[in-house]
Amino acid sequence: MSELAARLDAYREVVPPGTIDLLRRLADRVRGRSLLHVNSTRLGGGVAEMLHRYVPLFEELGIATRWEVISGTEEFFRVTKSFHNALQGQEQAFTDEMLQTYLDSNRDNASRLDLAANVVIIHDPQPVALIEYAPRQGDWVWRCHIDVSRPQRRAWTFLRQFVTKYDGAIFSLPKFAQRLPIPQYLIYPSIDPLSEKNRELTEDEIAAVLDRVGVPRDKPILLQVSRFDRFKDPLGVINAYRIVKRHDDCRLVLVGGTADDDPEGAQVLAEVMDAAGSDPDIHVLVLPPTAHHEINALQRAASIIIQKSTREGFGLTVAEGMWKGKPVIGGFAGGITVQIIYGVTGYTVNSVEGCAFRIRHLLNNLQVAKQMGENAREYVRENFLITRDLAEHLTLMVALLK
Ligand code: UDP
Repeated sequence: MSELAARLDAYREVVPPGTIDLLRRLADRVRGRSLLHVNSTRLGGGVAEMLHRYVPLFEELGIATRWEVISGTEEFFRVTKSFHNALQGQEQAFTDEMLQTYLDSNRDNASRLDLAANVVIIHDPQPVALIEYAPRQGDWVWRCHIDVSRPQRRAWTFLRQFVTKYDGAIFSLPKFAQRLPIPQYLIYPSIDPLSEKNRELTEDEIAAVLDRVGVPRDKPILLQVSRFDRFKDPLGVINAYRIVKRHDDCRLVLVGGTADDDPEGAQVLAEVMDAAGSDPDIHVLVLPPTAHHEINALQRAASIIIQKSTREGFGLTVAEGMWKGKPVIGGFAGGITVQIIYGVTGYTVNSVEGCAFRIRHLLNNLQVAKQMGENAREYVRENFLITRDLAEHLTLMVALLK
């Protein structure tokens, strides 16, 4: 059996029946074609998380796949963070100088990077202007991972002039679709059930990690894993925990890290540390972006997973928690709303009080929590595993290259 067959076959045990055969048939249609992904960080955040998993799997499917990362100055990443914030609806000011910094950096990257491929997928706003400066070969698709349900007009109008030059755009939710003269596609992001972040762990492995990171398992653990970003609302999580704590004993673990393309993390972390104060039951863990095993163990040790975002493109952490059989309480935002079926796989909430209420409800109804966790795992199996995502990419490639 070839290496390709061996590795893909490992997924047969976990993904819905027929998925791998479908993938192979689709791959036959585009075998020998090349695919290039471009984003702005190799480490940290959901896009890098997915790209690490896509590349070897596309390769195994016989599609020559590369991943390029744009580079930039601190100033460039401050500007792109402003775009990120503005597209997610926060008021931001943009000067001509900022826009020039953005364009200069995209031009430099276009001349430095090898952007030749049959299909080029550009992820998120940071590299969207590459299309302006790159010698045009193949089909270019812009994949937007952020919550653009209510973008600030000025930022979107500026970026839109580049987006319209693409052959298509992929959004993570139907309601993110924009008025654009190019085809728009919907692809839900996904998690890899066999990655170090999501593979099954033994009880001993879980216990060893919890020991190492210093989180006792003497009471229920509430966990939120996310970059220290205001849209993830870590302060709201602490406030919800404080309400819960008046009645029910528990620990709160906030795990975060930095992403190379996110300059605001340190400031938000400082605010979180300040809010946590000296409460011995709040654990703020700053882990390196490669700590997949640790996060896997923490998610498995948790009683409830929280993702209290106020804006969210998709929220891989929600699928990760659900896959581990946990009920998830998430902010009613972006992709969280398609993952959490209210009252079935978890609860979406709109306030700190709502979050606290649902945490208390689950802490006091263990059977309900367990059943929701089981439902959640099956929902992820059907909808949010990487094999489905790969099949949709292959379908898109077939359509573009025909
Ligand atoms: N993550 C991580 N370490 C951290 C914080 C997040 O490994 O300190 C991972 C998390 O497990 C998930 C991804 O980064 O796989 C975050 O993706 P998500 O879609 O939830 O949010 P994004 O950061 O892309 O906004």
